[in-house]
Formats: sequence, structure tokens, C-alpha cells
Amino acid sequence: MPVKPWFPTLIYESPLQARGNRAFARSLLEDCHKVRAHDRAGQRWCRENYPAGYTSYGTLCNLHQTFSTFMELEKKIRAHVQRFARRLDMNLQGARLQMTDCWVNVMSRHAVHPLHLHPLAVVSGTYYVATPPGCSRIRFEDPRLDKFMGAPPKRSECRPENRQQVFREVEVGKLILFESWLRHEVASNPSAGERVSVSFNYNWI
Ligand code: FE
Repeated sequence: MPVKPWFPTLIYESPLQARGNRAFARSLLEDCHKVRAHDRAGQRWCRENYPAGYTSYGTLCNLHQTFSTFMELEKKIRAHVQRFARRLDMNLQGARLQMTDCWVNVMSRHAVHPLHLHPLAVVSGTYYVATPPGCSRIRFEDPRLDKFMGAPPKRSECRPENRQQVFREVEVGKLILFESWLRHEVASNPSAGERVSVSFNYNWI
């Protein structure tokens, strides 16, 4: 068939490092718990706005500048972000991609992270610190979905590139990167244990 996929949406997935992922995630998990214990304002905000969950997004979102383990995490993520930007053929015109925000998310059972994107950033992503069995995956949505009003639905066995949504498995030590305009969500977490992740934004500066 003389057809090629144009305008693809790229999602980057990789272990953070070749080895030592579990040990590194364990040390980061301790610090995620410390961040939560220390962040009284964030806890208060989450009681009102993020049932069964904790996020430091609104209160402690520069962890890459304040905690040594998060600084180390940023150094490890940076090379992946640069590789992803090269794959996307980004012309940064002399600027560099720099981490501008870095925050912790803890989802207990039934916590929901509704559909959103990351404004004022170029590349965003998440590193998974604790992923109890059966915990929620991350769902990405076709960015053209709002243009499909009159289009027929896709067949259930359609080609991967024709899907209108995609679920990606999460596991400890895994890094997922995407362009910041790509909408995504995490459905209600069914697992008994806490699903812990660190999310971040890179902007061109
Ligand atoms: Fe997000």
C-alpha cells in the first residue's frame, strides 16, 4: 500500500540506566517519603484536591535543585532527554533543554490523575520509583482527537499507529518521556500499595 505515517507522536521509554535501577529507585523512594513528610502545605492541598494521593507539584516542585538524590536523577535523565530531542529533530537554536520543575507523586488506592498536559515546557516525563503489582498504567491520547468529530471509530485490532489512545506499562526504574503538549492521565489506582513516581519538565533556555 503506497501509504506512509506522517506526523507521528513519539513517546520515549527506557530504563533510566543499564544497571542498578532498583537500588537507585529505593534510595529515591526514601527521599520521596521525606519530601511528603516535610511538605505540610502540600499535604493540606492534597487532602482537598487530590483524594488518596500526594503530589508536591504545587508546593515543592524544584526538587532537582534542593535534594542530592533528585539532582543525581536529573543528571541521569538529561542524556535521555537530549537523545529524545535529537530523535525529534528539534532545532534548539543555541538554547539547551533544562529541567525547570521536578516533583513527587504518590498514588494510594483509588487516587486518580486526570487528563492533563504540561504547559510552558518542551519535554516532560516521569520516572517510576514504586509500582506495586496491578497499579495503574499511564494513558496517552491522540493529540488530534478533537478533530475526529465526524470520523468513524477504529477497528479494535487496528494498527498501532492508528490507535487513538495508548496505555503504557509502568515499572520501577523506567523512564517515559513525551512532548509536553501530549495529553495523558492515570486512571484510579487499583493496587493496595503506593504507586510512586517523579515527574518533571524540561524547557529550552
Ligand atoms: Fe503529567
